[in-house]
Amino acid sequence: MNTEPNRESGELTTLEMYIDGQWRPSASGRWLETKDPFTGKAWARLPEGDAGDVDAAVRAAHAAFTSGPWASMTASDRGLLLHRLGDVIAANAQVLADLEVRDNGKLMVEMLGQMKYLPRWFQYYGGLADKIEGAVTPIDKPGMLHYVVHEPIGVVGAITPWNSPLLLTVWKLAPALAAGNTVVVKPSEFASASMLGLARLFEEAGFPKGVVNVVTGLGAEAGRALVEHPLVERIAFTGSDLGGARISETAARQFKRVSLELGGKSPHIVFADADIDAAVKGVISGIFAAAGQTCMAGSRLLLHSSIHDAFVEKLVARMKEARLGDPRKADTDIGPIATEPQLAKVLDYIEIARGEGARCVLGGRRASDPGLGEGWFVEPTIFTGVNNEMRIAREEVFGPILSIMTFDTDDEAVAIANDTPYGLAAGFWTTDLQRALALPKRLRAGTVWVNAYRVVSYLAPFGGFKNSGLGRENGIAAMHEYLETKSVFLNAKSSIQNPFTLQ
Ligand code: NAD
Repeated sequence: MNTEPNRESGELTTLEMYIDGQWRPSASGRWLETKDPFTGKAWARLPEGDAGDVDAAVRAAHAAFTSGPWASMTASDRGLLLHRLGDVIAANAQVLADLEVRDNGKLMVEMLGQMKYLPRWFQYYGGLADKIEGAVTPIDKPGMLHYVVHEPIGVVGAITPWNSPLLLTVWKLAPALAAGNTVVVKPSEFASASMLGLARLFEEAGFPKGVVNVVTGLGAEAGRALVEHPLVERIAFTGSDLGGARISETAARQFKRVSLELGGKSPHIVFADADIDAAVKGVISGIFAAAGQTCMAGSRLLLHSSIHDAFVEKLVARMKEARLGDPRKADTDIGPIATEPQLAKVLDYIEIARGEGARCVLGGRRASDPGLGEGWFVEPTIFTGVNNEMRIAREEVFGPILSIMTFDTDDEAVAIANDTPYGLAAGFWTTDLQRALALPKRLRAGTVWVNAYRVVSYLAPFGGFKNSGLGRENGIAAMHEYLETKSVFLNAKSSIQNPFTLQ
């Protein structure tokens, strides 16, 4: 799938869904348009799938799970197939990055880096596929063999957001497939193209039909139908806390296994003894990389009061040099906001912060440089004088908006950091070894970075405390999120002493 030819002509590229190894439009014949955030114009149309399309995809995934080549494949062969897919992705990293940038406006340098990193997930979980061992227990029942096996769950529904669409989908696909499940993916209606590009690579790598299916469409329709489908036994969701709550309620009624990777309002703390230049870069990577559209954004900056003024001065000076522009260009630092509704939301929060009395020391507007055309750009924005009760400090914005607060003691910093409904991530900067050792334990967050920020790995469990979600992705534990545990009692004697009592 090439994103370039229609750039000049303005003609829409037509994308199709991938169900049971076939490319098709929606059964209803309805389409959605997807826009390029840099131009603000539609560049492709994609099928608006509904409950009927979801049903076809789930039935295909269920058939592939219960019979056929995937169902009878050994774990070692599944692992090899995942490795092969990793190689195919590596060979197509640029194509996938082009799709991501066209669809969600993130920087090419970041998306190409992510695409080149994706194969690691398939290599890692491909390697794990045949290393999940059961156990034989020393069972306390004479004449009986008892063993434990870990089995795939069945059809997994993966529902994903528009920021880093492929990376976040692969965090689900790799362990789910390594464990032997089949998957139906419902990507975000704002950024589905790259997932359809990835589906082609599953085909090229030789995955049997029905193992991976992609239904495009709206969350309230296709997404909801996927969560409600009785043959879907496990939902893996990344998105907003509101979406997560809805999905959780529906899943609960059917006792469906569910994992939720949700939002954050992560604290980023700089102590007086920190390496200030390094911390300034860390803070920038936490909130201005990807125009702040990351779940782990360090959107609340807590500065020790003794360094507040000097730190803010350095941060503002550095951010004044940041270049907004075409995400494809190597010298662009900040790209556009990915969607029109998100642009409106970010601008709203700037007004909310002003209304609450926060002081805007940088940015604060939609960026209107002529070179940015109709693109959805927001100036990197910094507010000082924020307190932790303000909405700008409590609610997730998901944009390039930084709220700065001060503290005087470690206890105060920890109290402010933890005073949030969220708990996805936290970071702090210090050269004090004792503090570096002690603080991670006190911070209520699923990931803590010390003298670093925005680092992820296929090896490192990722997920949230509190409203930031349920479950963990990445690392060995994520494999078990896609497995059921079965206990088998095998009675070699085949006699029961008293059928009316527990044996
Ligand atoms: P969203 O909740 O609006 O949508 C996410 C997905 O859910 C989309 O595919 C959407 O179509 C679908 N959806 C919406 N309503 C649904 C419903 N009723 N039933 C089933 N599916 C439904 O989120 P978004 O705006 O696309 O993404 C931004 C959010 O994602 C932010 O809150 C961000 O913090 C979060 N996020 C979290 C992580 C993480 O790992 N914790 C990573 C990235 C993004």
